Amino acid sequence: MLADKDRIFTNLYGLHDPGLKGATARGAWDGTKKFIDQGQDWVIEQVKGSGLRGRGGAGFPTGLKWSFMPKEVGERPHYLVVNADESEPGTCKDREIMRHDPHLLIEGCLIAGFSMRAHTGYIYIRGEFIREREALQRAIDEAYEAKLIGPGNKHGWDFDLYVHHGAGAYICGEETALLESLEGKKGMPRLKPPFPANVGLYGAPTTVNNVESIAVVPTILRRGASWFSGLGRPNNAGTKLFCISGHVNRPCNVEEEMGIPFRELIEKHAGGVRGGWDNLLAVIPGGSSVPCIPAETCRDLPMDFDSLKAVKSGLGTAAVIVMDKSTDIVRAISRISYFYKHESCGQCTPCREGTGWMWRVLERMARGQAEKSEIDNLLDVTYQVEGHTICALGDAAAWPVQGLIRHFRGEIERRIDDYAASHAEAAPVAAE
Ligand code: SF4
Repeated sequence: MLADKDRIFTNLYGLHDPGLKGATARGAWDGTKKFIDQGQDWVIEQVKGSGLRGRGGAGFPTGLKWSFMPKEVGERPHYLVVNADESEPGTCKDREIMRHDPHLLIEGCLIAGFSMRAHTGYIYIRGEFIREREALQRAIDEAYEAKLIGPGNKHGWDFDLYVHHGAGAYICGEETALLESLEGKKGMPRLKPPFPANVGLYGAPTTVNNVESIAVVPTILRRGASWFSGLGRPNNAGTKLFCISGHVNRPCNVEEEMGIPFRELIEKHAGGVRGGWDNLLAVIPGGSSVPCIPAETCRDLPMDFDSLKAVKSGLGTAAVIVMDKSTDIVRAISRISYFYKHESCGQCTPCREGTGWMWRVLERMARGQAEKSEIDNLLDVTYQVEGHTICALGDAAAWPVQGLIRHFRGEIERRIDDYAASHAEAAPVAAE
């Protein structure tokens, strides 16, 4: 369990002042100039050395991503874009950072912007996050006023930061759809390559990072890369915000060490599974895009990128959705399928058609109105969608269905048998 002294988000529950005075008392903006004075390469090496992997879901090494930005600034300016469009079902961690620790994010933006030679940063915030937007803007205004950011600031790197709000489309959390939206266009993902580090916002070199990835950087620099890399497990370093929801006694957001066993995470922070551990059916460990895992697999599982990948699931956004035995698992996954059908931007045929097809079949399966042979057909369709689309929404739609069939095929078959049996009984007896 993470010691209090190792927590980065010390105002996670909003018990303290989120403003500049409170943030500086908790250590924010301490030594920022010293970090900038050491140069871009030093900052990037520190972030690389810390082992920080992106906290938005994919887990790509953050320092490496920053190093893809061109070293020289030509005619095109460089941009930092922060993805605060937190829309993955079950995920509500970035929201807490912006509410209660916004100065860590702003300081992180300045340092990240400096490391990639960007003088401008945009925070693209989910449209529904109205209070968070206000809290963030208040903190940005304070930072400008105190000359912590902006032109001629006391850190020696001119940096402007803008908050831009979305309009409620899940797909705008995909980095290239986000850039399109930021440019004032319809939020539709772009084909890659070119990647944003070469052709991003307004055709200029851009790096898009998640809120948590940026907000942890100042503390990593203050406490040292080896402190961060010493927490967690090999290749899965540091602390992580987990959003625990569903059938637990106390749903919560909590910062924990990466790799904490699932059972410990739930017992220590969420008061255990509702009705006890024997009542656990399954868990979705990383937001709705990752496959569920059954109770027998997840109990002692370390909650990190590699351990969850090894059981064909994923850490994703670390939104841990716990489901007890009262859950209709087929209907739950069908509801997730509906979400992806609804949010598909419709550009690619496998996603546009496949998401609706998967949802309709799952709806029938939830009622038992299907043939058993359709289970394999459905699985086959998920493989036709996965990896055959412009963006990862197609994969995100396919994986939960694959998880359902992998672990709960018997439950689908049982419903089909029950439905067939109940309708056979109801059928009129033919006259002799
Ligand atoms: Fe749009 Fe889906 Fe294609 Fe992504 S995968 S670009 S959401 S149609």
